[in-house]
Amino acid sequence: MTQSLTLRRPDDWHLHLRDGEMLRAVAPESARHFARAIIMPNLVPPVVTGAQAAAYRDRILAALPDGARFEPLMTLYLTEDTDPADVAAAHASGLVKAVKLYPAGATTNSASGVSNFDKVRPVLEKMAEIGLPLCMHGEVTDPEIDIFDREAVFIDRVLDPIRRATPGLRVVMEHITTAQGAQYARDGGEDLAATITTHHLVINRNHILVGGIKPHYYCLPVAKREEHRLALRAAATSGDPSYFLGTDSAPHVDALKEHACGCAGCFTATNTLSILAEVFEQDAALDRLEAFTSLNGPAFYRLPVNDTTLTLTKGAPVVYPEKIDAAGDTVTVFDPGFPLHWTVAT
Ligand SMILES: [Zn+2]
Repeated sequence: MTQSLTLRRPDDWHLHLRDGEMLRAVAPESARHFARAIIMPNLVPPVVTGAQAAAYRDRILAALPDGARFEPLMTLYLTEDTDPADVAAAHASGLVKAVKLYPAGATTNSASGVSNFDKVRPVLEKMAEIGLPLCMHGEVTDPEIDIFDREAVFIDRVLDPIRRATPGLRVVMEHITTAQGAQYARDGGEDLAATITTHHLVINRNHILVGGIKPHYYCLPVAKREEHRLALRAAATSGDPSYFLGTDSAPHVDALKEHACGCAGCFTATNTLSILAEVFEQDAALDRLEAFTSLNGPAFYRLPVNDTTLTLTKGAPVVYPEKIDAAGDTVTVFDPGFPLHWTVAT
């Protein structure tokens, strides 16, 4: 008997599509299964103004295959010079759904991010007033803080003080990787939520470092100890509305991943739904997959759920490409390290 599972069509609440040739290579991978995605603005140069976000949205739509129904939900990259009035206008027009905060230097293309949080206070106050969510890359960049502690320290030093100083500010803790992150998100009330990636449900730091370094498992925030992976699994499969899917699918060409200074990012757009179905089945939580992929995100972003559905069927191990061609090179598709049996029906 074929087992099948029908969900409201999923959304991806944290996605990197890049630009140019890479955009054209990866946009179809997300559009195949997802209805909408929150598009990260860390291009070079970053997407800072409403006008830049509108132009980027047009480039994304032009990169989609004919007939694709995929809505990019645009974000602005918060800098110390961001103009609160421009943010408010971009939100009022319906173009921009969130603002992304990168601590300066935290990850790929974050050099224009925020160092002095006092300088962005007027923008945060405007966002609280209009209900526009702030997506936070939650890691401190202090070189004295161990990389495995940077998320937990960020919660205490940055996130909690900002939330206390800005009542009403709606915050998404992006790609949480720790038990502390999961707990803080759950206990933070209705103005706080967290995205969880596919890969952080699957790998811990041993996957990166044991038996030779595995550059395709290196991402930021870096995967932590097993106890944290298990806390993320419990959070994602709980059905709690505080948590929803943000894949953080982040393509880099293989030449830059397999490198002396390899780039951070896992590319999961191609096989995310097969992996998630496997993970939720392993945890006897298939009945809560739809909440994580399709319901909790729209509820937080105050958007309607999708009116179409997607069906997964269970059968022989799924064959998916190891790599996709992109930008004159290849991008390696994330390997969960176990066979996948759920495939998206076409
Ligand atoms: Zn990201």
